[in-house]
Parts: sequence; structure tokens; C-alpha cells
Amino acid sequence: MLGGMQDFELRVMRLLDHAAREHGPREIVTRWADGSETRTDWAGIARDSRKLAQALERLGVKPGDRVATLGMNHSRHLVAWYGTIGMGGVIHTINPRLFEDQLAFIANHAEDAVLLYDKAFGQVVEKLKPQWTTIRHYICFDPGSESGAGDGAFEALIASETGDYAWVEGDEREPCMLCYTSGTTGDPKGVLYTHRSTVIHAITELQPAEFDLSTQSVAMPIVPMFHAVGWGLPFAGAAVGAKFVFSAVNEPKILCELMNREKVTHSAGVPTVWFAMFQYMDATGAAPEHLRIVTIGGSAAPRAMIERLMKMGIRVNHAWGMTETSPIGTMGAPSYDWNDLSFEQQVDQVSKQGKVPFGVELRIVDDEGAVQPRDGVASGRLQVRGPWVIKQYYGEAQLAVDSDNWFDTGDVAVLHPDGTMQITDRAKDVIKSGGEWISSVELENCAIGCAGVAEAAAIGVHHPKWEERPILLVVRKPDAEVSVAQIQAHLEQHVAKWWLPDEIHFVETLPHTATGKLLKTAIRAQYKDFKLA
Ligand code: ADP
Repeated sequence: MLGGMQDFELRVMRLLDHAAREHGPREIVTRWADGSETRTDWAGIARDSRKLAQALERLGVKPGDRVATLGMNHSRHLVAWYGTIGMGGVIHTINPRLFEDQLAFIANHAEDAVLLYDKAFGQVVEKLKPQWTTIRHYICFDPGSESGAGDGAFEALIASETGDYAWVEGDEREPCMLCYTSGTTGDPKGVLYTHRSTVIHAITELQPAEFDLSTQSVAMPIVPMFHAVGWGLPFAGAAVGAKFVFSAVNEPKILCELMNREKVTHSAGVPTVWFAMFQYMDATGAAPEHLRIVTIGGSAAPRAMIERLMKMGIRVNHAWGMTETSPIGTMGAPSYDWNDLSFEQQVDQVSKQGKVPFGVELRIVDDEGAVQPRDGVASGRLQVRGPWVIKQYYGEAQLAVDSDNWFDTGDVAVLHPDGTMQITDRAKDVIKSGGEWISSVELENCAIGCAGVAEAAAIGVHHPKWEERPILLVVRKPDAEVSVAQIQAHLEQHVAKWWLPDEIHFVETLPHTATGKLLKTAIRAQYKDFKLA
């Protein structure tokens, strides 16, 4: 027997329809890279999204096709998301901070049909065009497309459309968005979100224990829209008609002035952006005056950062998540006994990664896969499952989960008896610097290519600004004379500048597992308190 209630497919466009109908005049402000500003609103975003949907159809884009973006945070990027999804397409946000060979790989792997890009990335686009085999149309978000020989600028593209368009309907399990993560070994992997996962995730984010969003909220995501779905904010904000303030440039002065003028209440970003903000505040005496909730994630939020924000009267949401989890996994909202805790205890609590919202389940397992107790002592590989957690990477034959849908995050954590999760280490062999991944394995392989190097281990060590920076430990070949400068010069030829290790040290030996692999956990433990010179 079935119940007697209506079916309501969880389609993303219902979020925008709601925002436009119920909160039409609520503003969407953009400060562009050239310093100009524009103001539109949810009704305007919906109108332009319909026009873009028409324009994409005119260009021959079909439901299911991927439409890529290389863009910072702004209202046209928001229109690109909703317009693409509205015509049944899959919006594919590409991270412009990746290396050129990764950018080439990702767009080809996704078989993107169209690329919408910021003028600021025009040079990269021009350079990669010959390598991108599937992109048929290049459209610059900025007016005038002198940065590239694109098909034309965004506003010109949608100008001739009527906006009289009905969204493509379909099953809630159809895909709506694609986002690649490079936080794994090997090639970047695509996470293909469904309408259903996206809507459930968006509704969850509104909760007081999560982002605590309402129509009163003025949200400024500093996390870029190409980073793990902009942490879901562009969807969650629509569900309540929050005002958005976007900046296409992440400079603390610009952000702080915008925050104060537009009375921003909610912001979100990786720790590095708050470090930069603190430096600006210290130098000028300025401060964001209306901020009520700051969400920090992507890397562990440092205690001193949490303390400083809390002393400003701001609630800090310490969030843990991944591209594979849409991205919200846990969030550190105040506990039931919050008011009974001392300030120190409150900071202690927020320094951990918080608790799951309804829907997400966590467990920790040992190396043999045995589930460990939630006793605040045992640590193990963190596994997660839930309605907005990945099942299968895009284009991969095998599932990314076990038979009970558990996804292994590659993080190592402790679960406390009250459900609080605390990340203690990382089993995956990567380094996260300023919110972006550096592959330890690639650095090591590259170093071994240098004459005189027998073995090399790259690990991340704490850095006050970038959270983590790589250092390289090198074992020389017997009788080899290779120097730090020679290794440095060799690496410079092969990896991006920001991947270069901050320090290179020679060691006699490196620890290994029984099977002869580098024992990275032991090396990381040994260098846990390492201070960069
Ligand atoms: P994002 O774009 O949100 O950074 P990624 O998928 O690139 O997402 O990175 C996810 C990984 O980042 C996690 O598996 C974990 O290693 C790390 N991470 C995210 N949030 C935290 C946190 N609060 N504390 C510690 N590590 C974190």
C-alpha cells in the first residue's frame, strides 16, 4: 500500500523557483575583478537562468551534456549553475588553480561541451584550447571577449533570449553537477551529484546546527564556487532567499569593506583566508562588524583562529567534509551544554570537527576493517555514508564504497562518546596547502628522478599561513654528492612553484612497511612538531 501524499521530485530548480517566487527582490551583489559592482536579485537570477538555458539549447547543448566553468564567485557564475541545470545539463565547475595538465585532463574526461570562463583565466583557456577535444563553445563571463577568441561574452549570449522557458523535468536521481577532486592519488576523480543529493544537502545546511541560514542571512562565501560546490551555499541560500554578496577577488581589504557595507552575517572559507583577514585587521584596525557565523573547513581550523573569532562574538562552525560528501560531513555547532562551558572548553570543543547532521553516518575502522569504539581514544580510518555521499566516481566502473555503502575518506579520526568527530591524521598521501592539494607521491617520484637521489619522502608540516607546506626528506645514493640546490633545481623543472618543498633535508634512512613501502605515518609522527626555518 502506498501513502496518500504528493510526490515531489527533489529537483534543484525547485530551489531557484522558490527563491524567485518567495524572495524575488532579495539581492545578489557582485564585486567584479575590474572593481565594478552589480546588483541583481533572486528574480533576476531566475530570469537570466532561463535565458541561459535557452541560449545553451540554441548552441546545441542537450540534457545530460556537461557545461564547464572556470570562474570565481559572481552572479553570472550562479546563473551558469542554475541555467545549465535548468536545461537538464550538468554544471561542471573546474578549479582554475590546478595544473595545466590536470585542467586538460579534467575537461576531456568530463567531455565538456561548453566552457564559460572569467577573463582572468583567458590566457589559460587560449593555451589549453588545442588540448581540449570536446569543448565546442567558449564564452567569456566578462563583457567583451578580447581575452580570447570565444564565441562571445555571456551577457551578449543571453541578451537575445526571451526567458520564456520551462525547466527540463526528470527523475531526481539524474545528475546536475560534476566536481573533480585532486585529493586522491592518481588522476583527479569526478563526483557526479544528483538533483536529489543536492536538494537534501541544501535543506540540511539551513539547520541551526549547520550554516543556520534564513532570509535574514547575508552570506558571503569566500570559498570559491569551484571548491566542493562552494560548500553548497549557492543552493542552500536559494532555499531561504538569503542575500548573497560575491567577490570575484579574494583580497582582505575588498572582502572586509564589502562585508561591512553589505552587512554580511555569514561567511565561509578555508583557514588561509582568515589568516589574511587577520593580517589586514591588525594593519588597519578594520574588522567585519556584522559577521555572526563563520564556517571554517577544508583543513583543520587552528585553535588561535577559533579563539580570535569567538572573542569577536562570532560563532565558529568548524566543518569537515569532502568533495565526495557534497561537502558537509560534520559541523561544530554549539552543544546542548554550551552555556555551561568555560570559554576555554568552548574553544576546545570547536577545535574538533563537530557532529554529523541527520543523514550522515560515521564510523572508524582499523587497518583490518574492524569497527572501532566511539570512546574518544581509539583512532581509525574514517568512513562515511549518507544520502549526499558518493557511491561511484564519474566514468569509473567500480564502486567507491563497500557493500554497505561505506566510503573510506582517507582521513584518520577519533569519535568521541557524544558523537563529536576529531581528525587526527590523514591516511591518504597528500598535502593540503592553502586549501589546495599537493601530491606527496608526485613530489617523491620527481625527486627520485634527480641524479644521486636514492629515496625521497614528502610530508606536510605545519605552516602558520598555509596550514601545511611540503618538506622533502632525501636519502642519497651511496657516495653521491647531490645537493639541496640541485634537487630544488630539478623539481622546479617539473612541478608548479607552489608545490616546491619549503625545505629539503638529507637523512640516512627512511622507515618502511613490511612490504617495502614508505611508512608515512611514522615519518609524519616524527616530524609532527617540526618548525620550518
Ligand atoms: P574541499 O574542497 O572542501 O577542501 P576536498 O575534497 O578537496 O574538499 O578535501 C577534503 C579533505 O580535506 C578531507 O578528506 C580532509 O582530509 C580535509 N579536511 C576538510 N575539512 C577538514 C577539517 N575541518 N579538518 C581537517 N581536515 C579537513
